Amino acid sequence: MTDVVDAPAAVKPINHWISGSRYEGRSGRTGPVFNPATGEQTGAVDFASVEEVDAAVQAAKQAFPAWRALSLAKRAELFFAIRELVHERREEIAKFLTREHGKVLSDAIGEVTRGLEVIEFCCGIPTLLKGGMTEQASTGIDVYSIRQPLGVVAGVTPFNFPAMVPMWMWAPALATGNTFVLKPSEKDPSASIYTAELLKEAGVPDGVFNVVHGDKVAVDAILEHPDITAVSFVGSTPIARYVYETATSKGKRCQALGGAKNHMIVLPDADIEMAADAAVSAGYGSAGERCMAVSMVVAVGDVADPLVDAIKERIPNVKVGDGMDSSSEMGPLITREHRDKVAGYIGSDEGATVVVDGRDGAPDDGFFLAPTLLDDLRPGMKAYDDEIFGPVLGVTRVATYDEAVRLVNENPYGNGTAIFTRDGGVARQFQFDVQAGMVGINVPIPVPVAYYSFGGWKSSLFGDRHIYGPEGIDFYTQTKVVTSRWPDPATSKVDLGFPQTR
Ligand code: NAD
Repeated sequence: MTDVVDAPAAVKPINHWISGSRYEGRSGRTGPVFNPATGEQTGAVDFASVEEVDAAVQAAKQAFPAWRALSLAKRAELFFAIRELVHERREEIAKFLTREHGKVLSDAIGEVTRGLEVIEFCCGIPTLLKGGMTEQASTGIDVYSIRQPLGVVAGVTPFNFPAMVPMWMWAPALATGNTFVLKPSEKDPSASIYTAELLKEAGVPDGVFNVVHGDKVAVDAILEHPDITAVSFVGSTPIARYVYETATSKGKRCQALGGAKNHMIVLPDADIEMAADAAVSAGYGSAGERCMAVSMVVAVGDVADPLVDAIKERIPNVKVGDGMDSSSEMGPLITREHRDKVAGYIGSDEGATVVVDGRDGAPDDGFFLAPTLLDDLRPGMKAYDDEIFGPVLGVTRVATYDEAVRLVNENPYGNGTAIFTRDGGVARQFQFDVQAGMVGINVPIPVPVAYYSFGGWKSSLFGDRHIYGPEGIDFYTQTKVVTSRWPDPATSKVDLGFPQTR
């Protein structure tokens, strides 16, 4: 349980957002928010009690009837206004991310831009909600399907994408006519409150979008609340499993996206320079704190030595520093504890080779660790098996394509994977063979565009719907099928038989 923080004057209070305004927490519990580049505490975020979560749910419940009744034309118009505001203020949103998460500003702007794409997809909500229609299914009888919202839905989000992942949830949830309660990560909560203010400015009615901050108390209150119909979760696998099991046991719809260990296979025919650029970019971007980061490079055959050399050569050029400094390419990790945990993997496995040790050369202030490269990793080693979630790239060496694919398929996670090769036939076979939800062919971070859906397989996702895109629309709606006949006195008669269509 997070200690109550005795906030000094410079520490900014971060409140909840309920029914269209800031709501000062009354639970007496708060959590510290840091600037990871300096290590200083900059905020104290309110932690919601069960009653405060209920207040947010009641606001959302009250707002629901009018929101679901709003015409699609008006909802689409509002989404265009939201799109304009988020686009215009993307740098302001990004600054919150850099200050509280630590990722460099250009990367933070990239995060907002990818979230914006989901909002843009939702501008087409009238088309997305179209149902099917069958005329004359039986004589004089038409059948059609319609999609309706679920009611009050909730989202629980991780620290590593404090703006984009909430957008993956609230944009399709609101566009389909639901009202929303967001519980963002307590480590970098400010972007959510800024988003709430933007939605209000765009004209979203009070109560349609609410934010409660907090820890397990707030999440459990969401999972237990009888008026919440569905929960979207993104975070680590143990919590994803817990959220999925608890939410579904309470009769809620749930999609819970978990952790990852993404393998990038490099075949002997690959362009080594291109593969090394990709491994460095995808391994160390956002300090490795991306669920689609490449964390394992699988070097096949004689590609291993030149590939490891090419990656090693690039590492000293990665500029590590404060994300607000435009020359920085990689920022700090989220907390001191996390940085220390990640650093603990360096040199921890017997038989592994530390090629580059990121404990050397990281800035002293803040929660930094410089890019680290470990070679000769194998399943069974901690640095191979665990999701490290930091700037530690592992290399494993195998003799054949089959061995490489087996490693990916036997891994408990199945979020993303990539293959680097010039052979189209092998790449096509890989897409057929591999057990992961998102596959890159010479693309290291294959996050699907907004009109596809995002999600992994195996322990990377619990539930049967991926997030955003068409599956996001499915997740936040329930279908109704209407069978209709208009009165025709000429054909009316009493008939106690079971309705027939022929
Ligand atoms: P986390 O699981 O610790 O936290 C996620 C959310 O769950 C937070 O809002 C947190 O407050 C809440 N939470 C934490 N402990 C809880 C508990 N015991 N009971 C109930 N709720 C709890 O994850 P994180 O550290 O914030 O984020 C990093 C993880 O998220 C990584 O594992 C990463 O792979 C994963 N992630 C996955 C995806 C994906 O799309 N699959 C995307 C982003 C991040």
